[in-house]
Amino acid sequence: MTNDLENDHRSLPVVLRPVADELLSSWLVRHAAYYGVTGPFFAKWLRLGTPNLSTLDHRLGLEQVARLSEKLRCDPVTLIAMTFVGATSQSAELICRGRVPQMCRACADRHAREGASGAVPRHWRKAWRVTCPACGAALSDTNERPNTRETLRETSPFGGLWREALAGEAIIERFLRGDCSFELSPFALMRALLVQTWRPFGANGCNPVIGWALGTLIPEFDELARPIKRRINHAAVASLPISFRPALLAGLSRAIADPAVLNAIRDETILRGRRAFERLREQARIDAHAAAKSHPT
Ligand SMILES: [Zn+2]
Repeated sequence: MTNDLENDHRSLPVVLRPVADELLSSWLVRHAAYYGVTGPFFAKWLRLGTPNLSTLDHRLGLEQVARLSEKLRCDPVTLIAMTFVGATSQSAELICRGRVPQMCRACADRHAREGASGAVPRHWRKAWRVTCPACGAALSDTNERPNTRETLRETSPFGGLWREALAGEAIIERFLRGDCSFELSPFALMRALLVQTWRPFGANGCNPVIGWALGTLIPEFDELARPIKRRINHAAVASLPISFRPALLAGLSRAIADPAVLNAIRDETILRGRRAFERLREQARIDAHAAAKSHPT
């Protein structure tokens, strides 16, 4: 099949149909596999200037767009829509890099039946999704539970908060679509909810233990997060283990539905945590205001 790639002045003889919402790197990797070459070899043949196809999902130059649209007979707008290049800086922070953290097993089975085995849609990298926008199924954790067919709804210790988690997911999608009714940006609020604090512990209440702002709303969060405290970081929401995501989305939906709960959270968040929480709460207000101005009704 490599003969097909020898004449580099032509378009590819066969261009594979992308699956719904497919990531550009996934589509390119499937082409490389189809022509029996490695990803870096394919990138070199395309003269993309990088051997790493996954970088194109986040940064795509005009020359690269021109090369790809010529070789894959695809219009530039469609190509750019297969990446995260147009993401706002806030939502870009919630795009998971590295290994794909989640998948829709129903869609993966369908891709395999349709000859697109291994295809990765964009939403499998979005750190605010718990369901698949293509078929509505709950997503599955591919990092901690790679071999189970169970979904996050069954494997997350916060599966009982599913209904509220769905509300949180819908809030973020509405905000991204330009809904101007928000007083607080859900992105900054998610960060605020992951701010670290201290909680009194023990019979005399004097021994402090680590906690998080979200633990005021969902006390089990503190308990379950303590053993993995290094992985809970308000500056890196995308790295929150996916099994904790339903709790964060549920907390977000409560804070958006009733912003007064943020006062209770602030009162129970102490020391440096309180300052960080207040700063992010103010940021949420400023960001929502700015978003409303950029999407006038
Ligand atoms: Zn699906």
